[in-house]
Amino acid sequence: MTSVSDIARRRQALLDTISQTAEDAGREASDITLVAVSKRQSEDRLDAALAAGQRVFGENRVQEAQAHWQERRAAHADLELRLIGPLQTNKAADAVALFDVIETLDRDKLARALRKAMDETGRTPRLYVQVNTGEEDQKAGIAPADLPDFIARMRSEYGFQIEGLMCIPPVEEPAGLHFALLAKLARENGVARLSMGMSSDFETAIRLGATSVRVGTAFFGERES
Ligand SMILES: *Cc1c(COP(=O)(O)O)cnc(C)c1O
Repeated sequence: MTSVSDIARRRQALLDTISQTAEDAGREASDITLVAVSKRQSEDRLDAALAAGQRVFGENRVQEAQAHWQERRAAHADLELRLIGPLQTNKAADAVALFDVIETLDRDKLARALRKAMDETGRTPRLYVQVNTGEEDQKAGIAPADLPDFIARMRSEYGFQIEGLMCIPPVEEPAGLHFALLAKLARENGVARLSMGMSSDFETAIRLGATSVRVGTAFFGERES
């Protein structure tokens, strides 16, 4: 069992590390958002995180996110929910209804479904494009070479403002190379924010320009299987 104070302590330790790492890198800590990744975590832990003051959460499945947050949101109007997992087009409307940020825009078909859901509901979640920096066959995301055209199309054809880029580096490679590449692609394409870094490598990500880090196990403890 994780107690409320365990989560509060771990969260504070993460915020301290984020501040120190930012300062060492000559950055403002306030420019970096700690996203607590709450997938496959218990209800008790979600409530402990809320009690500790955490308000920004990441989820990788729409249905699970609805179960975790739909009711809690009613009690916490200041919640910010971010989708960080792959999105199927048939879930686009549900995602637009729930999330404040969708970080995994990665194809035209999804862009069309999101545009339609936004037009129908008037809700406009902020959007990140997922980049497959390692060009892995099994991983979602736009290949780096295709990114300029894709972003241009998102802006001109769909009227999307692209807030940021997101990546998940290949497990067997040094993450820093991928974070540096994502930062370069953001600069080249006029994109302001970078979602990169997880429990094991968020400090590297901050040194390389991350504006949000997605931390699961280091925040909550091990996930349920
Ligand atoms: C699960 C997940 C995380 C968090 O991973 P940890 O190693 O537990 O910090 C971050 N990003 C994505 C996309 C995830 O699916």
